[in-house]
Amino acid sequence: MKTFYHSTRSGADLVTSKQAILAGIASDGGLYVSDQLGDEKLDLAAITAQGYHATARAVLSALLPDYSADEVAACVAGAYADNFDTPAVTPLTAVGPDWLLELWHGPTCAFKDVALQMLPRLMSVARLTEGNGQGVMIVTATSGDTGKAALDGFADVAGTGVTVFYPAGKVSDIQRLQMVTQKGANVAVCGIRGTFDDAQTEVKRIFADRALEARLADAGVVLSSANSINVGRLVPQVSYYFDAYAQLVRAGKVALGEAVDYCVPTGNFGDVLAGYYAKQLGLPVGKLIVASNTNKVLTDFIETGVYDRRREFVKTISPSMDILVSSNLERLLYYLTDGDCARVAGWMKDLSETGVYTLPADVMDRLRETFTCGFATDDDTRATIRSTWENERVLIDPHTAVGKCVLDRRVSEGRQRVCLSTANPYKFSADVLAALGESVEGLDGFACMDKLEALTSVPAPAQLSGLRSAAELHPDVCDQDEMSAFVENACARVFA
Ligand SMILES: *Cc1c(COP(=O)(O)O)cnc(C)c1O
Repeated sequence: MKTFYHSTRSGADLVTSKQAILAGIASDGGLYVSDQLGDEKLDLAAITAQGYHATARAVLSALLPDYSADEVAACVAGAYADNFDTPAVTPLTAVGPDWLLELWHGPTCAFKDVALQMLPRLMSVARLTEGNGQGVMIVTATSGDTGKAALDGFADVAGTGVTVFYPAGKVSDIQRLQMVTQKGANVAVCGIRGTFDDAQTEVKRIFADRALEARLADAGVVLSSANSINVGRLVPQVSYYFDAYAQLVRAGKVALGEAVDYCVPTGNFGDVLAGYYAKQLGLPVGKLIVASNTNKVLTDFIETGVYDRRREFVKTISPSMDILVSSNLERLLYYLTDGDCARVAGWMKDLSETGVYTLPADVMDRLRETFTCGFATDDDTRATIRSTWENERVLIDPHTAVGKCVLDRRVSEGRQRVCLSTANPYKFSADVLAALGESVEGLDGFACMDKLEALTSVPAPAQLSGLRSAAELHPDVCDQDEMSAFVENACARVFA
């Protein structure tokens, strides 16, 4: 089997993509990268003639070469068959002269579904050939959204289980219902008396607990995480950049080979990095526009070459982008330095020790060949939600609005422009209503959904409105020091 991946911080240990997906993060703290990225280009003419599934198969086969064609086909069919509410999976719609790429047609109505419906299937296959068949229990703490996407992705996937902890009383009613109504024989959900940080801290401790690890190993179970630095989450996101391009070609909006710009609401830099991967695989990309909210570490970085996390963390109305350390950026640094692991490791050391690192001008010049940036405040975001509704009759969520605001401010360079739309507006009904100038006083999540639906006649997605009548299956709430036992019980139950 061809070895293919290694750490961004060392070229020493080569692993297959299956091993990289099972491990998640490299043992030296680096992220898995492949030096073969870009050696193989995808056949653009073929891509424009085919649908989402075939494109996803082509992308996965190119980037995860140790998966057989049959394995890839089974994973794609399982992930995108009927879990998305449209056969197009990620449809493109017009907004003024530009385009929105709707990434929120999956079970939880946000873009993380595209990857989190795929990752569990990739892991399930990998554990059979690489992991001596042990059970994989995903453990994650969530502040609301990612937990549900993980639950839905792993539910009833063979050989896997998933345990999610959320801060009880500190997620929205709809977020809580999304989690506690989750079906599946291999899922476990528990509220924590404490904050998200308490839950996160304890999950980290659980991963580092060697005694627990040994007991679970005896029972044939290994713990893993599903976070966005996993290769198995990055790779599925590459597909929709190609598919969006195919949709534009088929609609007669671009000629084959003509470049397109993509604007991406960015947090951990996973989504926009997938666009860079697409470019390396031969997609004609003009600019990748990195859109940030008030936590604009990336805007400052792209403008100055200094990555500086030493600043106040701001809670915004686009919470999934409230991030000060964009982990996936490390992969880009690796490629921009032609694979100089020592330099990448040095910058990451600077970041962890001092909170800041500085890139030299030649590396920044290379970065700016493809990437550009901008940011939007909450006020900008609300104004964009409102103007997009009033002028275009298109309803967008706050994350998408950050992207659209940044895109609208840029002078067009004559290319077609695609803004990635990362969540359904009904996931954030209260903030969207408020942006439209409506009062949300005293309204709960469902009342906000109803009011937004009455106001706009845009139908609320069944994935969210159906929660009203769904049975609550996971009543558990525990203290921080009971989480470890909860995980162990869940493992015993799921892998009995
Ligand atoms: C996670 C998320 C983002 C940010 O994506 P990254 O890959 O972390 O950059 C943007 N919008 C929504 C709705 C998200 O859930």
